[in-house]
Amino acid sequence: MGLGGYASRVAESMQSCKRAKITGLISGTPAKLDEWGAKYGVPEGSRYNYENFDKIKDNPDIDAVYVITPNALHHDQVIRVAKAGKHAICEKPMALNAAEGEEMIAACAAAGVKLLVGYRLHFEAKTLEVVRMRSEGEFGKIKFFQGQCGFRIGDPNQWRLDKALAGGGAMMDIGIYAINGARYMVGEEPIWVTAQETKTDTVKFKEGVDETILFQLGFPSGAVASCLSTYNMNYLDRFFLNGEKGFAELQPSTGYGPIEGRTNKGKLTQPHVTHQTQQMDEMAGIILDGNEPVVPVDGLEGLKDLKVIDAIYRACATGERQELKLV
Ligand code: NAD
Repeated sequence: MGLGGYASRVAESMQSCKRAKITGLISGTPAKLDEWGAKYGVPEGSRYNYENFDKIKDNPDIDAVYVITPNALHHDQVIRVAKAGKHAICEKPMALNAAEGEEMIAACAAAGVKLLVGYRLHFEAKTLEVVRMRSEGEFGKIKFFQGQCGFRIGDPNQWRLDKALAGGGAMMDIGIYAINGARYMVGEEPIWVTAQETKTDTVKFKEGVDETILFQLGFPSGAVASCLSTYNMNYLDRFFLNGEKGFAELQPSTGYGPIEGRTNKGKLTQPHVTHQTQQMDEMAGIILDGNEPVVPVDGLEGLKDLKVIDAIYRACATGERQELKLV
């Protein structure tokens, strides 16, 4: 659902999938439905628009819908997919705020369908190797995480800079990777957050659209994280994890790949697989076989990041530390 930039990347990557396949299309643009339908062999009867897609209920060829639309649309669209009895895969951020996220989780539970979030890095080999090393104690007690996520955004008229469609600015789009990364790299849920916002361009980044936010997270063990989210600096895609016995560094850490990294034991050498190919095959396994991923990708995982985002915006507005209760 939503045949835009990222959906094109997912669709191309899915041509190498072993388990997942495009069996339906949802778009508001008839020409895209024709073009994609012909390209990916989706028959006319399995092409829908935003008015009639509830009819997927009667289409046995469709197991799940991948919602790849602007952030503000995820909530209603996922709930409609669930009501049609289909599993939902939703792009990040799962919704605009935690309240919406909770409604989506409840709707999917009521309909008996799964809700997954497009966290492709949760299946990425070098990322998973760092998670394995940390969880097996190879870095010792974890003390610190640093996440730097950003890029200089172009076209000022795009939906990503429109508060109504994006729900915010860089934090909703790229800063969320630092939040999510802090959680899976440290291996704990944060219990407090502090945050500071700076804005150098009030024309491009209007009220409610964050340009740059620095934020800090505290974890139950005493570990701390220091993160940067920005739409106004390039070459920021780095995770650093520090423990009493070692460290891990990923740079790039969240780009489409290859992810590169090293630890105190040397360079990470796990082979690169196109993230979206791996993700969609693994998600098919979760949906069709009930597989459990090492790092979760379910609605609760998406909700935790939304709770942190809500708290970051509150911390920026008030200047005060916000307590977090994610579990
Ligand atoms: P995009 O602008 O390229 O595509 C959005 C699509 O939604 C377009 O085809 C557009 O026509 C359609 N659309 C439907 N209703 C719309 C409306 N009311 N207003 C505007 N567009 C509407 O955006 P994108 O880069 O594909 O991002 C889509 C989603 O995917 C976002 O939630 C984004 O955060 C997420 N995303 C995730 C990753 C990742 O690596 N996981 C990467 C890029 C984007």
